[in-house]
Amino acid sequence: MQIYNTLTHKIEEFVPNEPGKVSMYTCGPTVYHYAHIGNLRSYIMEDVLEKYLRYIGYDVKRVMNITDVGHLTSDGDTGDDKMLKGAKREHKTVMEIAKFYTDAFFEDCKKLNIKTPDVVEPATGCIDDFIKVISSLMEKGYAYEAGGNIYFDTSKLDEYYVFHNFNEEDLAVGVREGVEEDTNKRNKADFVLWFTKSKFDDQELKWDSPWGVGYPGWHIECSCISMKHLGERLDIHCGGIDNAFPHHTNEIAQSEAYLGHKWCNYWFHILHLNTNSGKMSKSKGEFLTVSLLEQKGYDPLVYRFFCLQSHYRKSLVFSYENLDNAKTAYDKLTARAAQLISEKKDTDSVDNEGFEKLKAAFTAALDDDLNTSNAITALYDVFKADLNAVTKLALIEDFDRVLSLGIISAAQKLAAENSGEDVPGEILALVEERKAARKAKDFAKADELRDRISELGYIVEETRQGTKIRKK
Ligand code: AMP
Ligand code: ZN
Repeated sequence: MQIYNTLTHKIEEFVPNEPGKVSMYTCGPTVYHYAHIGNLRSYIMEDVLEKYLRYIGYDVKRVMNITDVGHLTSDGDTGDDKMLKGAKREHKTVMEIAKFYTDAFFEDCKKLNIKTPDVVEPATGCIDDFIKVISSLMEKGYAYEAGGNIYFDTSKLDEYYVFHNFNEEDLAVGVREGVEEDTNKRNKADFVLWFTKSKFDDQELKWDSPWGVGYPGWHIECSCISMKHLGERLDIHCGGIDNAFPHHTNEIAQSEAYLGHKWCNYWFHILHLNTNSGKMSKSKGEFLTVSLLEQKGYDPLVYRFFCLQSHYRKSLVFSYENLDNAKTAYDKLTARAAQLISEKKDTDSVDNEGFEKLKAAFTAALDDDLNTSNAITALYDVFKADLNAVTKLALIEDFDRVLSLGIISAAQKLAAENSGEDVPGEILALVEERKAARKAKDFAKADELRDRISELGYIVEETRQGTKIRKK
């Protein structure tokens, strides 16, 4: 498989440290609020990557942290602790907030067919691991104490800006946001490993440490949790592109300083989901969540389909119009699969040659830097292929091990819903097409489709309960 590596800025052949095995780490959510659908774009694409690696035969171990302490509103160690902000907002304790939003995150993931990683580790459960690594960094001279906090000294590294050549301006994250700069830092790029005398006197969660009572910085969490479960050499580390700097840059700095050798070989970053007005936000504009999409009548898997239609290395614009287009396409796919179910003959068997040929197109797409949009094209080609329904259904099911669009189950549901009426899949497909035409206000096409349905012996009617189909 070829994959783009942010570390080298190149598409490279993916070669894991140990043949046949992949260690994969994912930055988990900061559980102070619901995930927005932008966050979930990242988790959907990471899920596809994980499933594809399994599909092509790798034994994958995937680890994810849950950030329940230490992530400040500015990534530059300034601003409020996000968890504390969430607790204040809802008049609850930090741990109550963490539990509630961790559960909510995994509920969203379930609705989007995102597999739960093999290991999910909340940061608050690994304080001893953080202290061990920070102590070692202190001993090795990579960390220093200033104003009561422990900082990583970036000037000790030969190369700190591993992903890009950031300049001093880029680093003034806090300053740009109008938040006071931390004057304890020896170098602008230095970052906090352990907070003690922070300005957060009301910090709820604090632990004893060799440097006083305090709590860990955000970056150290991911390094330690990854090393704890995946060892000293990591194959792939994933996250949204905003995490490349400073979060992942700092993870590399401290992990490699601690280990004394290279830590992670491949960095997989997903570009952002934006709205027409710009960056997606939990506080400004409409807070786009999976539940909101459901309230508006969208199946969460339509959102997954929408994400898979684009390449993960392109930013994606969310609008309801774009989502409606994805819905129309998704409904058509399920209707066509329902048609295959109704066409299927028990006497047919899988045509192995045809199966392998179409599967090769699917793997070629995903081998090419996880090109999901071409993988979707390969899925469309299954419907068009000159193969029996059994082979086509087997291919759809096989591809869905990676895509997880639930096409077969949606198609079975659709077929069952109409089974009382015994409506053939061909009619269902035309009905779906007519629905789309009506939605697009193309009434001439809708009428034409109604006539075709009628010629085939069925009547389609719009009722208060929705579209009804019956035999003439
Ligand atoms: P957080 O909960 O803020 O720690 O973010 C969780 C994940 O979502 C991280 O991998 C972020 O990089 C990613 N992320 C944040 N905003 C977006 C966005 N608009 N589109 C895609 N991914 C995002
Ligand atoms: Zn992380």
